[in-house]
Amino acid sequence: MPKQPIQLLASPHCNTRPNTPIDLIVLHAISLPDGEFGSKHITDFFLGNLDTSAHPSFKDLEGVKVSAHFVVARDGNITQFVSTNQRAWHAGKSTWEGRDNCNDYSIGIEIIGDERQPFTRQQYTETARLCRSLIAQHPTLEKHRIVGHQDIAPTRKWDPGTQWDWSRFRRSFAHIKHLHTADIKKFSDLLLAGGVDHHRFSALASGGCCFAMNYLAHDFARRFDHHLAVFLSANPIIFQSLQTLQW
Ligand SMILES: [Zn+2]
Repeated sequence: MPKQPIQLLASPHCNTRPNTPIDLIVLHAISLPDGEFGSKHITDFFLGNLDTSAHPSFKDLEGVKVSAHFVVARDGNITQFVSTNQRAWHAGKSTWEGRDNCNDYSIGIEIIGDERQPFTRQQYTETARLCRSLIAQHPTLEKHRIVGHQDIAPTRKWDPGTQWDWSRFRRSFAHIKHLHTADIKKFSDLLLAGGVDHHRFSALASGGCCFAMNYLAHDFARRFDHHLAVFLSANPIIFQSLQTLQW
């Protein structure tokens, strides 16, 4: 089973994809500051809230607007920042198989880590589960089209680097049984369309957990009730689970 449902935090750092199929997954590694593996600064960075006075190295990040679709923490918990239908800003100048601008047609996954320390067992398992779930939801993705940032931008980028064991990742991938079941493509599109307050909204968005769905729908309804009809009509699983909820 997934370690936890995917947490959702909507980043403003995204835009519309051109009309090309999504057929690549790009794995990255990130730590902020370098070598420290908490997720707070990464979250702030992707939400556009990073306090650049918090560490001397953050000065270089002043005004930088980047994001990834997903971040995998050291304990395997996953946060989604951008709908996979949207274009996240993770790859930069990049090329794969002769096609430039990988952001246009890829999904970006940041794994918290660096060049020196091994990634965790939970990160292999949960990154593999996420990739399998994405492939299940996007028919144009395939398991052999998962690459590293260093593969698509070899002169600029090192990540996920030599610590990421691709053989171990492929073994994890082969052994995953339970996928994330919520529709992670449409879900955050709806949140964005609803004008959600990026800084306050945090939702449990996956895992097929009725309690999480109820909690989410209830919270959404309380604060954004004018969007509820749209939200429910596009999310039949939540609608069904609400039949049993006391309002
Ligand atoms: Zn990267």
